[in-house]
Amino acid sequence: MQQRKIAFIGAGNMAQAIISGLVAQGYPAELITVCAPTAQRRDALAERFSVHAVDDNSAAAQSADVVVLAVKPQLMADVCRQLFENVDFSGKLVLSIAAGVNLSRFRALLGESINLVRIMPNTPSLVGKGMSGLYAPEQVSRADRDFTAGLMGAVGKTCWLGKESDINGIIAAAGSAPAYFFLLMEAMQQEAVNQGFDQETAAMLVRQAAIGAAELAEKSPDTPLGTLRQNVTSKGGTTAAALQVFDERQLSQTVAEAMRAAVKRAEEME
Ligand code: NAD
Repeated sequence: MQQRKIAFIGAGNMAQAIISGLVAQGYPAELITVCAPTAQRRDALAERFSVHAVDDNSAAAQSADVVVLAVKPQLMADVCRQLFENVDFSGKLVLSIAAGVNLSRFRALLGESINLVRIMPNTPSLVGKGMSGLYAPEQVSRADRDFTAGLMGAVGKTCWLGKESDINGIIAAAGSAPAYFFLLMEAMQQEAVNQGFDQETAAMLVRQAAIGAAELAEKSPDTPLGTLRQNVTSKGGTTAAALQVFDERQLSQTVAEAMRAAVKRAEEME
């Protein structure tokens, strides 16, 4: 990964996750600046990762090669307007991790020629297990694409998207997905308690089963999920009895409907 000066506009959870991943990979901390209005947050990151911390978005962006827009979507317009007035973006790469702010909106805010890549990460990025979708319009250079993939590769896996609207599919399949798994785990934990386990034991049973299943899937990338499922399902056995209930209640269709609802909501937000 090329070494460039990076300014993070916004010092929240996602910025912290990416900075943490970069620094852990040996990216020079002195090339990283974080910018946020609250001193406490900035200083915490500066102390923990030895990065620079400032309170002036425009000065941070002006002196950087790469500007990472890491504020909440509802603040994006104000932040961009201020940057547009004060920063010369020519030659810079701009990365946005915000949901719901599309490229044409960024062009309206930062100028038609803005060199911008959209990134859709998810919360497991906080533990280095993220899944990020990346979308770059045609004119973004190979070097800028490689840099972006390297940056997000520091916190997990990346996937280039063929068209901007695929970002909404990424939201449904990966961005919002941790919550689907947590919901299933919550329901399982509750039923384990109903069956007589105390909360702590029920939580341990379900977490460990989920971690184990995820790791089995990760360690067997060439094995279809259906095969992994069949490996724990003997004919007429206990797992088969449980899966039959999921099937009768049309779990697959419910999941499909839920994912479509996420896509629809993402489209409405743009
Ligand atoms: P967060 O609330 O933790 O962080 C936002 C940061 O922006 C804070 O440090 C805040 O101090 C700072 N900020 C507020 N006003 C500012 C301003 N005017 N100038 C500069 N900084 C300012 O949010 P987060 O979870 O890190 O999310 C950041 C972005 O990442 C959002 O756009 C969100 O849509 C996107 N995102 C987050 C996730 C996630 O799972 N957390 C997933 C995908 C995308």
